[in-house]
Amino acid sequence: MKQVYLDNASTTQLRPEVITEMTKVLSENFGNPSSSHNFGREAKNVIELARKSIAKNLNCNAQEIVFTSCATEANNFILRSSIQNLGVKRIITSKIEHHAVLHTVEILQKEYNIDVDYVSITKSGTINYDDLEDLLNQDKKTLVSLMHVNNEIGTVLQLEKVAELCKSNNAYFHTDAVQGVGKSKIDLSQLSIDFLVASAHKFHGPKGIGIAFIRKNIVLQPIIFGGEQEKGLRAGTESVHNIAGMARALEISLDNLEDEKKHIQELKNYLVEKLQIEFPECIFAGTPEETQYNIINVIFPFDDNKSGMIVFLMDMNGIAISRGSACQSGSSKPSHVLEAFIDKEYLMKPNMRISFSHYNTTDDVDSLLQALKKI
Ligand code: PLP
Repeated sequence: MKQVYLDNASTTQLRPEVITEMTKVLSENFGNPSSSHNFGREAKNVIELARKSIAKNLNCNAQEIVFTSCATEANNFILRSSIQNLGVKRIITSKIEHHAVLHTVEILQKEYNIDVDYVSITKSGTINYDDLEDLLNQDKKTLVSLMHVNNEIGTVLQLEKVAELCKSNNAYFHTDAVQGVGKSKIDLSQLSIDFLVASAHKFHGPKGIGIAFIRKNIVLQPIIFGGEQEKGLRAGTESVHNIAGMARALEISLDNLEDEKKHIQELKNYLVEKLQIEFPECIFAGTPEETQYNIINVIFPFDDNKSGMIVFLMDMNGIAISRGSACQSGSSKPSHVLEAFIDKEYLMKPNMRISFSHYNTTDDVDSLLQALKKI
């Protein structure tokens, strides 16, 4: 049976050039970057070149990039340290964040008794900017944590607007940009963002490597203690091949951004058109024209009891899709993201997140539609 992968918001296939780069580093640069002999220096050099390349692609300083084991760790590090070390007494976030932020904020609230406010979500799955402005109007030292692109529905935060609001209210701004980095150009020299997080496996790089961007002159403390790696901010021997692979993946993604974006946008438009013909009662969580070009979330008019089975049923037909984030794909519970803004009558209906990459074709979309008709 043909296997079709339409779950690129969960993870992406490595680019061949990334595999080549990583294999080269694995075989040629096996030294420990902390060692002071030549083997170590060479490995360290690989890391620093990667850091420079990533910084160039995000238009920030190389010193502002800290490598972590994943985006979840980077989010934990920034959120926790901002309370422990920057005197943050209040976090403004939203109910549609990834659990890497939501659960961390809940834990920190219990541990430190900080205030947490959730900005309201509109019917189209975006944050309510007026509400954010109202919430910011308080004296307590605040950090705003809002994701760039929502991983379940693809809605896009207006980074510039939020950054300006935070700046004018003297609040820190942290954005989990895991679904945006590599899919859009982010110019950190133009945006007043204090902290940004990314993960290589979402842009055709390896798993197990992430980035914490920390704006110059903001002094965080580590949450993992041990060696002096990453200027003492993240102990543990660096994953040299993963770091090199991530830098290469970001570079290629951004070099090919316009062409790949156009191709993926066409696939999404084609899918929306076909869905509206074949399943006229389906609705979209997040307006397709407003959501990022690679993600679409559809609620189907099928029977409620198919909700928990939909990923399985599609998989039986060779189609890999997801319900919300990968960690909740098999669950029959509605996703916390949809719960935040979708009317109750649709919440128990089968829903599916389809997420494309440049490797997909219209044939893949046709296969998806064929499989849907069998449900
Ligand atoms: N944040 C968002 C928005 C994500 O989509 C994901 C991955 O699903 C994560 C964080 C976690 O990333 P990682 O797998 O690198 O920990």
